[in-house]
Amino acid sequence: MGNASGALRIKNVRVGSDSGLVQVTIEQGKIMQVGRAQESFVADIDAEGGLMVPALVDAHVHLDAALTEGFPSPNHSGTLIEGIERWGQRKPYLTEEDVIARAEEAIRWHVGHGVLKIRSHVDICDPDLTALRALIKVREKVRPWVTLQLVAFPQDGIFCFPDGPLLIEEAMRLGADAVGGIPHYEWTREDGIRDVEYAFQLAARYHKPVDIHCDETDDDQSRFVETMAKLTSQYGMAGQVTASHTTAMGSYNDAYAFKLIRILAQAGMLVVANPLDNVVLQGRFDTYPKRRGMTRVKELMAAGVPVAAGHDSIMDPWYPLGSGSQLFVASMLAHVGQLTGTEELKACFDSITYAGAKAMQLRDYGIEEGMRADLAIFDVPTTTDALRLLPRPRWVVAGGSIVASTPPSATKVLWDGEYRSVSYLRAPQGPPNLQ
Ligand SMILES: [Zn+2]
Repeated sequence: MGNASGALRIKNVRVGSDSGLVQVTIEQGKIMQVGRAQESFVADIDAEGGLMVPALVDAHVHLDAALTEGFPSPNHSGTLIEGIERWGQRKPYLTEEDVIARAEEAIRWHVGHGVLKIRSHVDICDPDLTALRALIKVREKVRPWVTLQLVAFPQDGIFCFPDGPLLIEEAMRLGADAVGGIPHYEWTREDGIRDVEYAFQLAARYHKPVDIHCDETDDDQSRFVETMAKLTSQYGMAGQVTASHTTAMGSYNDAYAFKLIRILAQAGMLVVANPLDNVVLQGRFDTYPKRRGMTRVKELMAAGVPVAAGHDSIMDPWYPLGSGSQLFVASMLAHVGQLTGTEELKACFDSITYAGAKAMQLRDYGIEEGMRADLAIFDVPTTTDALRLLPRPRWVVAGGSIVASTPPSATKVLWDGEYRSVSYLRAPQGPPNLQ
């Protein structure tokens, strides 16, 4: 099925939760036609009523740290601070081969889950920039299938790390796709503001977007996102600036949060929430009640600020779990953000598709005629079923070619001598299917 020329024909497929069955023709790697089912259509894939979505997006992950959990020593407390300490112990062991092998493995895990668009932060607090050099090679190698963007990320700070300003600039010169920052980690508030300002200066100099780890703390006095909004506006960078994490927003007083969300919308900024890491790492200084460690996703979405969701960690010193499943990330977003209203669940799915694509500034993204055929086809009929059952896609298509496939998910179990449904798949309209 499928071939190198990127031609593929798919039948009995839905292209949205409310869509009827359509047929899709892909030629030369592009979607040529999405149309009503015709008897005479000869298909390579029979999707049997499943759902086709654009390739999933992971707008925030750390591929350089992925799969390092446990070596040289595990994170016993599970805290952010011990995680940073353990990563500091792991860094001297980094070699290009080590980073390339782990990153490629983590990318394969993503692809198996239908994720073909990935933005990875890369720690540049290393005089040799080993991880960045390695990931630039990986970016070129996977380019035919996966869009990989690399953010120059100063894990140990720009101004509180020796030669920090030189290293992040060198990372941009080597070819990083976006400028990062970590203002809340600098030693003083003044240095935090300089951290954000420096990122914007570099972005202007190298004509690149900005994506800053900003206010990833429960400290309600950590307020660097407002500086990002001011500079986004001053530099005319609407649509090109992402604030990642912004968990302190969950601790701000309501009056300040209200003002902040308004100016983020006005400046045209984007936000990436990382619910897996943050729900376990934040609130660690609280006794009870414990804060959820999440930015104000519901209110940001209501104000029209695009919110994407990132996987952040895959088996690294900060989070020992993770699998590359962006459906799991969106499901966690729904739970932690209390986003279970009908439209809100759709917005959660959006956070790993269209909102993620906005954060990555992808232009050729979606299921429309003429677009590049980067797709995932699930054997469930709706996005809500996908969030509920967390299936792997049956087929993952990159540039019109099948790059990964998984056997149908088991939705029936042998019980009392009879195969019975255990998934309760719903038809988009009409009565539930209880066979
Ligand atoms: Zn991160």
